Amino acid sequence: MSNKPLLLILSAPSGTGKTTLARRLVTANPGAIFSVSYTTRAPRGDEKDGVDYHFVSETDFQRAIREGAFVEWAHVHGHHYGTPRTVIEEADKRGALAIFDIDVQGGQMIKKAHPEAVRALILPPSLAELERRLRARSTDDDATVRRRLHAARIEIRLAGAAGYEYWVVNDDLENAYSDLAAIVRAELCRAGRRPLSPDLGMP
Ligand code: ADP
Ligand code: 5GP
Repeated sequence: MSNKPLLLILSAPSGTGKTTLARRLVTANPGAIFSVSYTTRAPRGDEKDGVDYHFVSETDFQRAIREGAFVEWAHVHGHHYGTPRTVIEEADKRGALAIFDIDVQGGQMIKKAHPEAVRALILPPSLAELERRLRARSTDDDATVRRRLHAARIEIRLAGAAGYEYWVVNDDLENAYSDLAAIVRAELCRAGRRPLSPDLGMP
């Protein structure tokens, strides 16, 4: 008998540091799976196909929907994004930790289908600090930064209503990472997650 899988959903307003934290968790947990979503948006910067996303055409995305390839899919910022069902199948088979870097609506869908999934909302210390990071990281113009800040307010409100199990504030990156690592560790100890020796006589 193998472990039960741990499906960990990370959501956050864009620019909060979710991808940085998710990648680090995957590196620190051998055997963990990072769910690589499908998207119809174009690669940004040095993003690689099959690593950051599977970059596909709208036609291919629609075909994948019809074939039932996604456990959930959504329209975000004008593009389609979908989580491959195979990630959950693989996590089930191996009793692995699977990490999903997806938005709140996607998190809701996976939680509905898999109530044992754990959702963590990564928050910036304040909207003012998020604005500072958004302006510092990129070439986004003022209108784009304003749009992202508006989207951040909505995303945070939605997550509040969606009842995410954990809130992690990414003020200092090391602190935020150790909070997330602690959540994973505690969830791996959840009753019933690990198979025990039969001679312990546990139910
Ligand atoms: P997201 O995936 O949420 O859009 P990223 O992981 O791409 O965010 O991080 C956005 C930017 O903020 C990156 O340049 C990252 O290095 C930086 N960053 C992440 N965490 C922190 C932090 N605690 N303090 C300052 N900058 C941070
Ligand atoms: P970006 O284009 O900046 O990489 O991602 C935009 C938003 O889409 C982020 O909030 C990201 O978490 C979300 N996202 C990425 N993949 C998926 C997915 O498969 N499903 C859903 N619902 N959202 C996703």
